[in-house]
Amino acid sequence: MMRTYKFLMRPTVGQTIALGEMLRDHCSLYNGALQERRDAYRHVSKTSVKYGQQSAQLKEIRAFDPERQGRWSFCSQQATLRRLDKAFTAFFRRIKAGEKPGYPRFRGVGRFDTVEFPRDGSGCRWDSTPHDPVTRVRFQAVGHVRVNQHRPVIGKVKTISVRREGSRWYVLLAAEQPIPEPLPKTGSVVGIDLGVANFLADSNGGFVPNPRYSRNAAARLDAAQQALSRCKPRSKRRHKAVERVASVHRKVRRQRQDHAHKTALGLVRDYDVVAHEDLKIRNMSKAPAPKPDPDKPGSFLPNGATAKAGLNRSIADAGWGVFLTILSAKAESAGREMIAVDPRNTSRRCPRCGHTARENRPTQEKFHCVACAHSAHADTVGALNVLRAGLARREAQLA
Ligand SMILES: [Zn+2]
Repeated sequence: MMRTYKFLMRPTVGQTIALGEMLRDHCSLYNGALQERRDAYRHVSKTSVKYGQQSAQLKEIRAFDPERQGRWSFCSQQATLRRLDKAFTAFFRRIKAGEKPGYPRFRGVGRFDTVEFPRDGSGCRWDSTPHDPVTRVRFQAVGHVRVNQHRPVIGKVKTISVRREGSRWYVLLAAEQPIPEPLPKTGSVVGIDLGVANFLADSNGGFVPNPRYSRNAAARLDAAQQALSRCKPRSKRRHKAVERVASVHRKVRRQRQDHAHKTALGLVRDYDVVAHEDLKIRNMSKAPAPKPDPDKPGSFLPNGATAKAGLNRSIADAGWGVFLTILSAKAESAGREMIAVDPRNTSRRCPRCGHTARENRPTQEKFHCVACAHSAHADTVGALNVLRAGLARREAQLA
């Protein structure tokens, strides 16, 4: 299995400039290749340029501009062209599927933040000075950059990427690892219900409250954004204010990830099988359709968009998508099983008698069966139903 590591780099002033140039030159390569594809499509009788043709021109491009393009590694430039190719493939796939995709865009220098090196040893070298106590990664035309390696890298490093986040630089490694030994069986199974008030409720009656990190950071974010809005364009002060906004976002992202990792680890340790709702968060987050006012053409009736925006914020806050991704990765490496079930009626069905009705749930929190008078916390009931559906599905698959 592949595993990704992300380490902070500590470039010198000169190296920082060189890394910036590396991004700038790869960005202009990306934009140039995009321009070529656009021109070919518009003017030359709707032909399309493919990755292979663009990659074949790399040699000439490098020879034409040895000062800039010529100094970076061939492999990394190919990777950048492949990224463009991927953007086009996704664009055409979405057209075919009848969606309305945006045409791949030109990237501003400030929006092009990653360069990939598809192979360790080609244009870059991880742990370039193995006898030095400080880990360093070497990039062609940049030099040996110090790395804050906060954990050991297990397995063979396959690909290396450089990423800029604000004023920080990171190196990302993808390493090939053998599949670890599965954890010993516990003999327990669990169903989970992901929510807003409670981040997670399990079928045993346990709860993990929603930490609401972004709500806690909202005041700091508002202050930082206000300060930013007062700055003059392109001033040093504005640059700092941008950094400040980014750092608030970064902190929330990290807190959310940390929380997701810890919660997921607890589940993977305790249970052999985890059943969860198959959340179509994307659909739930969609903006409600505008309601035109029949009396006044051109104006609109309230459609609940503001209320929905509040809910969206909570959904985003809860970070369910991130959590399920982390949980399935941990489950895979621990040899645990995950089952996704259809969430319909999981909050309305009575776990004791099976009676399914909307009236069973008088409030957001309470479940009270109108047939048998069973009552419990609504989220616990949801988790129990998820577990039941998950086990039924599993049995059907095994049979
Ligand atoms: Zn009942």
